[in-house]
This record gives sequence, C-alpha cells and structure tokens, in this order.
Amino acid sequence: MKTTKPVYSVVVPVFNEEAVCDECYRRLKDVMDRSGSAYELIFINDGSRDRTLSILKSIHAEDPSAKIINFSRNFGHQIAISAGMDYAAGDAVIVIDADLQDPPEVILDMMEKWKEGYHVVYGKRTRRKGETLFKKITARLFYRMLKQLTNVDIPVDVGDFRLIDRRVCDAMKKLREKNRFIRGLVSWLGFSQTEVLYEREKRFAGSTKYPLRKMINFMLDAVTSFSYIPLKIATFIGSLTSLAGFAYLLIVLYQRLFTDKTIQGWASMVSLTLIFNGIILLILGIIGEYIGRIYDESKNRPLYIVQDLEGFAEDEVLGS
Ligand code: UDP
Ligand code: MG
Repeated sequence: MKTTKPVYSVVVPVFNEEAVCDECYRRLKDVMDRSGSAYELIFINDGSRDRTLSILKSIHAEDPSAKIINFSRNFGHQIAISAGMDYAAGDAVIVIDADLQDPPEVILDMMEKWKEGYHVVYGKRTRRKGETLFKKITARLFYRMLKQLTNVDIPVDVGDFRLIDRRVCDAMKKLREKNRFIRGLVSWLGFSQTEVLYEREKRFAGSTKYPLRKMINFMLDAVTSFSYIPLKIATFIGSLTSLAGFAYLLIVLYQRLFTDKTIQGWASMVSLTLIFNGIILLILGIIGEYIGRIYDESKNRPLYIVQDLEGFAEDEVLGS
C-alpha cells in the first residue's frame, strides 16, 4: 500500500501511556488535519508493559497515517525519538511527548516559522503547570548549569518538543552516539533556529516516566556529551589540594625542626584522610562516567532493536 508522501512527520515516543494514547492521537490528528497537508504520525512504543501497543494497533487499523515502531524492549525516550527520526519521511519532523504536556496546537505556530524559512523551531517553556516543585527546581537548575558547562549554545528551558526540517533530520541521522542528548545534538548541528513560546501543561493522565534515576542519567548524558569541564574541575581540585598539602608539610617540618611544639593530631589525620579519599573516589567516579560512555561507543551495538513495524512500506524498513 503506497500512500502520498507526507509533508509532516510527527514523532511520538510512548512508554506505558495507555491512559493518554487515544487522547493524544485525537488531539494530534485534529491539529494535523488543520494544517491541510499530508502527514504521518509515528508512535514509537518503547517497550511498554501495559495496553499501549494494542491501543496503538487499533488506532493504526482505523487510520493508516498512524504508524508504529515497536521496540523489542525499553530503550529510553531519547533513543525512541531517534528511531522516529530515522523512519520519518516528511519534509518537516515534529517531536512531541505523548502526555500532552506540550500542547499540540503549538505545532501550527511551529509550521508558520518553518514556512518562513527556519530549519529548527523549538518550543520554549514560559511556565510549567502541575509539576512538582522538585521537578521545577531541578529542571531550572539543570538548564542553567548546562549552559555554564558547555560550549554548545543549548537554549534554556527548551525540551525535545520541536519541529526540524528534513535537512536537519538527515544530519541528525548521521549522529549515532549511544548516550544521546537530542536537544544538545540539534543545537550542535547549527542551521537557522528559532523559538516559539508556550506554557507547559499538566500531564493529561498517568504519571511521569522519568523517575529520579532516569533524570540523573539524562543529566549525566547531557553533561558528558557536551563538556569536559567536570574533568577539568577534577584536575583543578587535585592541584589545589596537593598544593595545600605541600604547604602544610612545610609548616609541619618547620615546627618539628625549629620549635618544640608537639604536634597532636590523630583526629585531624583521620578526617583529612577521609576527606581526601572521598575526593579521590569522587574524581574517579567522574572519570568513570566518561569511560563508561567510551565503552558504550566502542561496543558498536545498534541504537535500538525494532520488533515490528506497522504502516511502513517495505522499502522504508531500514534496520537500525
Ligand atoms: N518515554 C519513553 N521512554 C522512556 C520514558 C519516557 O518513550 O523510557 C516517553 C513518555 O511516554 C512520554 C515522553 O517520553 O511520551 C516524556 O516522558 P514523561 O512525560 O514521563 O517525562 P516528563 O514530562 O515527566 O519529563
Ligand atoms: Mg511529560
């Protein structure tokens, strides 16, 4: 079955989103119909363990423009987005979360900017509704810290909700690094970029699929993909503490040779040893984060494994 080539591809990663799939499809379809151009909706089922896949399948059965990439297991949000980009056929690719926190109606504004000639139109959050204080604070800190730490100009308060031109998508497909921080990679690519402002809504239903563990990993990926500064900080702390240690040695020697002050200091010895061992282990941990990622790259495994595809023509099936 050959359908017309879509102008727009909407990429939607879904992980255990049975409560939002239908509504997400309905809202997206409504917005995309209003665009007046041919489109496809690509849902990436990222190893969901609930009814997500069967809901997606029934959507696909009704509407062939809704397609499914079904992963063999959970590979993570960023990889799901990458798979969507790999399979997208449109002249512009829109990435959006399934939980309707990013209002689909904003896509229409993005399309306008794209038609003006921008290659990347990202959504910038002016407010976040219905998220925990903890999430708001960590997100705020994260974006600002990242800006300080990296040389790439990654915009602040911008998620993966964005529209990218075919040229940007093709360039993205060449970046196959394993621990991916997509919004950073898109900034790294360059092209002409602009923003549209929007308010981040409450999740439509269900709960976040980014527990603290995934959030921390995500932050580490972001920092290690774009910055050596943590390693430089390690060098700096190392130099500073050895200098301090050396200065203190001179003081101790002076006291031993030229005064008869007895040096007491078992407690201070123990605490110093503990502090410096702590610093050394911390620095080893930082180095380890980088080495672990080098290890991931060197294994040369594919980014993801597709179990089945629904709605893609045979010749589109690329493998990963
Ligand atoms: N998601 C995914 N794989 C994961 C985690 C999340 O595909 O391992 C999807 C999820 O279904 C949603 C999007 O990524 O469509 C963003 O996740 P979520 O809304 O839970 O993150 P938050 O908005 O809380 O940061
Ligand atoms: Mg969300």
